[in-house]
Amino acid sequence: MLSRFVPGALVRWFARPYVAGHDIDDVFAVADRELRSRAQLTTIDLLGEAVTEQALVDENVDVYEQLFERLARDPRFGNPATRPTVSLKPSAFTCGEQSAAADPITRLAERAHANQVRLTIDMEDHPWTDFTLDTSIGLFERGWDVGTVIQTRLHRTQRDLARFPEGMRVRLVIGIYNEPAAVAITDRGEMKARMVAYAKELLGRGVFVEFATHDEALLTEFARDVAPLCPQRCEVQMLLGVPRTQLQQDLANGRYGTRLPVRIYAPFSIGADNATAYLRRRMDENPSMVLLVLRNLFGSRAVDGTPPSLPPTSAAPPTG
Ligand SMILES: Cc1cc2nc3c(=O)[nH]c(=O)nc-3n(C[C@H](O)[C@H](O)[C@H](O)COP(=O)(O)OP(=O)(O)OC[C@H]3O[C@@H](n4cnc5c(N)ncnc54)[C@H](O)[C@@H]3O)c2cc1C
Repeated sequence: MLSRFVPGALVRWFARPYVAGHDIDDVFAVADRELRSRAQLTTIDLLGEAVTEQALVDENVDVYEQLFERLARDPRFGNPATRPTVSLKPSAFTCGEQSAAADPITRLAERAHANQVRLTIDMEDHPWTDFTLDTSIGLFERGWDVGTVIQTRLHRTQRDLARFPEGMRVRLVIGIYNEPAAVAITDRGEMKARMVAYAKELLGRGVFVEFATHDEALLTEFARDVAPLCPQRCEVQMLLGVPRTQLQQDLANGRYGTRLPVRIYAPFSIGADNATAYLRRRMDENPSMVLLVLRNLFGSRAVDGTPPSLPPTSAAPPTG
């Protein structure tokens, strides 16, 4: 495991651009900054997946409940259409069987709905795929604005596309987890080609497509060739800290033909230790990330141009 050899302080130093702080105040300040200064939307995630004790599950539930209540009350996020959405990982809600996560996630989805906060259930590695699809689709079918994520690398994904009901939000990604060849393709070019093909298919099925990548060629192809099919059901998503400022402005300003809302995935942790654990896991799953981080730190592009205004197609208000 690569990360075992990296001291905690160095991991935290690496993490700085990618983590939006160590409490709710910190992450709200980041969300407010993104919205006011760059007209960018956010989705907030609490780092703390793969828990091993019930006390940590309870802590995660408690923090998410606070998030929903505070998002609804905070005057900076008074407009439900631009209010940050919230993302969660199922493994943050069980320290045993997968099925134990269903109950806390359902209660959280209900609280999110009551507070007009949209919720996305992130996709973890392939043993979680069935649980995540069943749970998110079941909650959406209750009339709650719950979305999920689909990974182009999995062989099963082509079949899964047909499961999403009209109007559901689906984030499309290549997938971060190194999966075995038995369940996933290993060719990155093919994973990327499927992003565009699957986005077209999902849009054709009436799904709201959240196209999540930092790949400039893919994003411009999406904006030029896919989004015009139904711009009001398209959004682009990127991770906090990955330097794509100019590209984000260009997408939001319609430089590639369609003005697209850009949403930043902003993870935060309670205390520094959870952030360190998260980053160590990410480094083990994807060692090339260390190189990406170094390239970002020492090779970012200069940005010019005016900050974008929020595109008219941005984020539908929460249902219900
Ligand atoms: C908003 C968002 C949510 C996501 N949610 C999930 C999820 O729920 N489940 C899941 O399995 N995966 C998720 N992912 C991760 C996704 O599956 C990819 O692993 C990740 O986005 C890298 O692939 P890429 O398409 O950006 O292309 P790449 O070819 O990997 O990246 C293109 C370029 O972007 C930059 N870059 C990409 N990633 C990073 C990084 N982490 N740090 C620094 N620079 C980087 C590099 O410059 C790189 O050359 C999410 C990604 C985003 C953007």
